Amino acid sequence: MEQNTNRPVRRANYRNASPTKKRRTFSSSSFNSGFKNNQRGNHKNRPHSDGKFSNFKTGYRNRSNSGRNGARKIPTFDPSQFINTNPIETNEEVYVPKHKFTDFGLERKLVTAVLNNKLTSPSPIQDQIIPLILEGRDVIGLAQTGTGKTAAFLLPLIHKTLKEYSRQTLILTPTRELALQIQEELRKFTVGNKIYSTVCVGGTNIRPQIQGLRRKNHFIIGTPGRVLDLIERGHLKPQYLRTVVLDEADRMLDMGFIHDMRKILEDIPSDHETLFFSATMSKDIEKLVNDFLNDPVTISVRKKDVTNSIFQDVVRYHHHDKFKTLTDLLVGEEFKRVLIFGAMKHSVEKLSQELNSAGIKSDAIHGNKSHGQRQAALKRFKSGNARVLVATDVAARGIHVDNVSHVINYDLPNTFEDYVHRIGRTGRGKEKGTALTFIQNT
Ligand code: AMP
Repeated sequence: MEQNTNRPVRRANYRNASPTKKRRTFSSSSFNSGFKNNQRGNHKNRPHSDGKFSNFKTGYRNRSNSGRNGARKIPTFDPSQFINTNPIETNEEVYVPKHKFTDFGLERKLVTAVLNNKLTSPSPIQDQIIPLILEGRDVIGLAQTGTGKTAAFLLPLIHKTLKEYSRQTLILTPTRELALQIQEELRKFTVGNKIYSTVCVGGTNIRPQIQGLRRKNHFIIGTPGRVLDLIERGHLKPQYLRTVVLDEADRMLDMGFIHDMRKILEDIPSDHETLFFSATMSKDIEKLVNDFLNDPVTISVRKKDVTNSIFQDVVRYHHHDKFKTLTDLLVGEEFKRVLIFGAMKHSVEKLSQELNSAGIKSDAIHGNKSHGQRQAALKRFKSGNARVLVATDVAARGIHVDNVSHVINYDLPNTFEDYVHRIGRTGRGKEKGTALTFIQNT
């Protein structure tokens, strides 16, 4: 076991984080049990050290001094859920791939592009699912982001397109950001190969998308609402689609796209292939799969358990110095690329502005920003022009930024699942990450 050396410099109130700390040791036998289970399952043994947060289940309390009419519901947590000062080095099972990228029978130029992109060996989902997609099977990939699932479906589909140039694929995603990231990955694997794509997402001008659909497209990548709109207006012809990919299907369901997804799937000829990706399985998802997939093969991969492998701690603040506590922290050089989560669109915007005024280059992404603004913000964050990105949970969905050194929960997440999702943005792959959660002192 190795201690994560990427520790935050402890200053100001952060030093007061220790009272709620529960010493835990991780051994290889706790490998896959998960921090969540350790913490929630044994809640009787946990310290009752914090009056306000002594509610061990995630719950809600009313805060009457919210300055609004009526009380605002804010989540309550046991702070020890946010502490893991002894992260284990990795709890990913070592997977030995059965294939090399050269073994799948992919077109040579595609394999060259893969290797040029520094992908040396297939990830578990790629290793297992690429042969099935090449065979033409319907598949269910149970995999989170960061497992390499995008390349897992793109590579065999690009191969098929290179073989059969008239082939058209529709990729449905929950968010615009994810759609654009898939297009970016598609471009990386197809440079110089005349493979065309159009992104059709909501919240942006439909005209360029209509123009885009008039040209030849091998891949149409979009969000369900806009895609359905374009089908209904006659610009997107479902009868030509040979493959449909549903990426992050569980998130699309969460976002209320079920009706649109069903309508789209009903419009496409029944002999199409369906590739279905989801991090979780629920009754609704099972129903969708049963209704639309033909004898699918399920491949399930586990990503490393972020709750065990990321250094996590709480940061104490008094209500009058929350912002100062943050800026004091951000002085630390190790805070190289920091993703800060806030609860509301307006508070996220305000925090970003305040950080800029304090000389800390920051950007914000939230639902009130235009698509172009969000993309520009992401670009600045990825390139290092902005050291800090402040985001709401929804806006941060599906974004991939490598080397996020710290995730800071400036406002508490609504659920433990949201917490896990947030902190998973740091410590990706073999990187070490730190997650800090702001907790108000009583
Ligand atoms: P995902 O969101 O699951 O598609 O994974 C995205 C990240 O994984 C991207 O940064 C990819 O470049 C990276 N990735 C995909 N496949 C591999 C691979 N075989 N080896 C290493 N990294 C990979």
